[in-house]
Amino acid sequence: MDSRTQQLLTARLQYYRELGIYDFYRRDVAGNVSAPAAVVQQRETAPISTYVVTPENLFVAPKPEAGVADPAEALTLIKEDLGECTRCVLARLGRKTVVFGEGNPSAELMFVGEGPGADEDEQGRPFVGRAGQLLNKMIEAMGLKREQVYIANVVKCRPPGNRTPEREEIETCSPFLLRQIAVIRPKAIVALGAVAARCLLGLNEPMARLRGRWFDFRGTRLSVTYHPAFLLRDPRQKKETWKDLQMVMEYLGLKPRRAVE
Ligand code: URA
Repeated sequence: MDSRTQQLLTARLQYYRELGIYDFYRRDVAGNVSAPAAVVQQRETAPISTYVVTPENLFVAPKPEAGVADPAEALTLIKEDLGECTRCVLARLGRKTVVFGEGNPSAELMFVGEGPGADEDEQGRPFVGRAGQLLNKMIEAMGLKREQVYIANVVKCRPPGNRTPEREEIETCSPFLLRQIAVIRPKAIVALGAVAARCLLGLNEPMARLRGRWFDFRGTRLSVTYHPAFLLRDPRQKKETWKDLQMVMEYLGLKPRRAVE
């Protein structure tokens, strides 16, 4: 690679780094995403289109949490990296606090929601409003305490009027969620609602096709269930949700307390 290209590539990587993005994916000609790889160094002669990533030429800028064994400490480093984030428009659309996520840094079970609402934005904590109270009930019904699990969202700032986060907002923010998951290494993830499921799985399927089965998320089991806010609007679906949670409980060896009310 000539020095000019190297310079440009370094600047581009630095830019992504400031956005909190450290991992890169190589897209082949057919448009399929292949295994994580960073295309940074290249032999002088090879045109970029034929460039092949090997362990020798792979370069990944280290994340602040890289090599930190303690998950609590690693999460703190990610939180610091996120800071008072202004990476997407949500920072300028009335959000008060960045809601990082909370819970057991070594949780076996992780819940992923969509984005903070008004209560979460006020308190800086995920799922503390009405939907959060229902999520607490779901967790307790599974025989767990809220402090035992980890709860985070796809976007960490409240979208105005609680609208669905937009693609660019999700793409900008979700690398932080992925880093949280990588540090926590839960045994199972429950995606709450279609936005979380689509973000993590990259699938644009309706809920009916996502629920009631396991997916693989980078080696971790992931299941999808209804978002608690949806259950508040349509309580008849609680029965279905309970079935989804029972599948998770069976996998984690949890004994049920009671069905979700
Ligand atoms: N809804 C979400 O998706 N996340 C929260 O934290 C609160 C409500």
